[in-house]
Amino acid sequence: MSGFPFTGYRNSVLCLESVPLDYIAEQCGTPCYVYSRAALASAYKEFDDAFGARDHLVCYAVKANSNLAILNLFARLGSGFDIVSGGELQRVLKAGGDPQKIVFSGVGKRPDEMRAALDAGILCFNVESEAELAILNQVAEEAGRVAPVSLRVNPDVDAKTHPYISTGLKENKFGVPFDEAEKLYTATRKFSNLRMEGLDCHIGSQLTELDPFVAASEKILHLLDRLETQGLRLSHLDLGGGLGIRYSQENPPPIPDYVQALCTAIGSRNQRILIEPGRALVGNAGLLLTRIEYLKHTPHRNFAIVDAAMNDLMRPALYGAYHHILPVAKHGEEEKNYQIVGPVCETGDFLGHDRTLTLSQGDLLAVMSAGAYGMSMSSNYNTRPRPAEVMVDGDRVHLIRERESMEQLMAGERLLP
Ligand SMILES: *Cc1c(COP(=O)(O)O)cnc(C)c1O
Repeated sequence: MSGFPFTGYRNSVLCLESVPLDYIAEQCGTPCYVYSRAALASAYKEFDDAFGARDHLVCYAVKANSNLAILNLFARLGSGFDIVSGGELQRVLKAGGDPQKIVFSGVGKRPDEMRAALDAGILCFNVESEAELAILNQVAEEAGRVAPVSLRVNPDVDAKTHPYISTGLKENKFGVPFDEAEKLYTATRKFSNLRMEGLDCHIGSQLTELDPFVAASEKILHLLDRLETQGLRLSHLDLGGGLGIRYSQENPPPIPDYVQALCTAIGSRNQRILIEPGRALVGNAGLLLTRIEYLKHTPHRNFAIVDAAMNDLMRPALYGAYHHILPVAKHGEEEKNYQIVGPVCETGDFLGHDRTLTLSQGDLLAVMSAGAYGMSMSSNYNTRPRPAEVMVDGDRVHLIRERESMEQLMAGERLLP
C-alpha cells in the first residue's frame, strides 16, 4: 500500500497511524473524513527541507482543504498560505497564520476582499489582469496603503493533466498572456499605490511529470531577466502549485525531485522562491470513511450502496477521478466486482467503478487519497449534512469538525410571510 503514508492493516483492520478505523466509525459515525497529522507534517517538511539554505516560502493552497485545524498545523510548522477568497483569508487568520506569509490568488477578487487583505498586511496579491491592477490601486489608495503585487503570467504550457484542472494554456482564463506581461509591468508605473514585488505562475493541478514545471519556470525566468535588464528588480518568484499525487498507478515525481528541478532552473538568481502546493501536502494524508448500507445484486451489476456520496466527495462525479477503496476489515469470503455508489439521486453519484472486493452489508470502506479537494468541495446536495472531520495523531483521535446538523443546514432560510 505504498502511497498511503501511515496507513496499514493491523490484525486485519485498517489503521491510520495507530488508530483502527472501525474505532473512529464507532466514535464519530460515518461518513467521516480522517486525516493523519504525521502525514501532513511529513509532507510539509519534505517541501520545506528540499529547499535547503535557499530563501523560500511554502504557501499551502488553502482551497485543497481549509479545515482550521489543518491550517493551524501548517501555521505552526511555519507555512505560508495561498488564498483565493476573503473567506479563506479569515480562516487563515483565525487559524493563527502569519499575514506576512499570505499570497492572494484568483481571477475575480472583489474590492472588499482586497481591502481586507490590505488591512491584514498580506505578503502579496497575485494579480491576473490589467483591470484588476486598476481596481487594486484604487482600493489601496482609499485605504492609504501600498499594495504588494505580483503578476500571474500565463506561460502557455501544456500541463498534461485533466482539462478542468489545467490552467496554464493560453485559452484558459488564468493569468495575463505571456506576451503582454512585460508591457503590463511597465504600465504599473502609473499606479502609485502598487509596488511590484514578484512574478508568478500556476499551470495546473495533479501534474505527474516534471517537464511542464520546468518549461513554465524557464519561460518565467526568462521574463524575470528581461524585466531586470529594464531596471525592474523583483524580490520574489512564485512558481505555483500543482504537483500530483498517486491515486492509482500515477508516478508523480517525489517532492524533493520536484523542488530540485525548480531550484536547478532558477540557478544562481537570488530572488526568494515561493511555491503553492495544495494536493501534494494533504491529498494522501486523508481518507473518507464510509459504511455499506446495502448490497444490491442485479443481473448486470453488483452495487455496494454506501453512506458517502458525490456531495461528500465530488471528484469522481466531477472529473471521473479514481480513488482507491480499501475494506476496513479484511475477511475471506467470495470476491465480486462492485460499483461503489452513494445514495444521491444521480447516476454520476459513484465513488468507484468495477472494484473487486469481498463485501458484506454494514462493512466499512476507506476511500483513499481524499485529503485534498474532498471536504473543501463538498455540498449539501440532497439535503445531506456534511461529514465530520477527524485528525489522528499517534493513538489519539481529535474531532476537528462536527458532523453538520440539520439546524445548521437550514439556519439561513426563511418561510414566506
Ligand atoms: C489550486 C491552486 C494551487 C494548488 O494546486 P494543487 O494542485 O492543489 O497543488 C496553487 N496555486 C493556485 C493559484 C491555485 O489556483
